[in-house]
Amino acid sequence: MTTTTTLSSWLLDQIAADEEVALEVAAWRVRIGEDVGQPVEGEDRRFFAGYDSGGPSVSVGAERVLDLCAAHRQIVELHDAYDTPQQMTYGTIVACAECGSVDDSPVAWPCPTLRALATAYADRPGYREEWRP
Ligand SMILES: [Zn+2]
Repeated sequence: MTTTTTLSSWLLDQIAADEEVALEVAAWRVRIGEDVGQPVEGEDRRFFAGYDSGGPSVSVGAERVLDLCAAHRQIVELHDAYDTPQQMTYGTIVACAECGSVDDSPVAWPCPTLRALATAYADRPGYREEWRP
């Protein structure tokens, strides 16, 4: 497995871990009722004001986390490595399937978009500094 393929699989693992927690929280909230937190405004139940120690805080609802996980997964899938390495005048590169033009001006994979997304999870085990944009 190459470093470049590891970034996608590592990101998908992080997203799956967040989803697992969010689904557990959502199931827990259903068991005890909807009075765990109060919607910040209107009927938007993605954001909740939670109980804390009195300091500034924000609690994000499970549904919001699941929305973010779905968006992050789509980004990872869109910015996957193009399956055929591209022969350029300066050598062979693995290109992003989404960024640039694979034939004319390929963007080396992992692309800046994928690297930027990974920084959101950079504090987790397995993140490599070589992925940092
Ligand atoms: Zn890309």
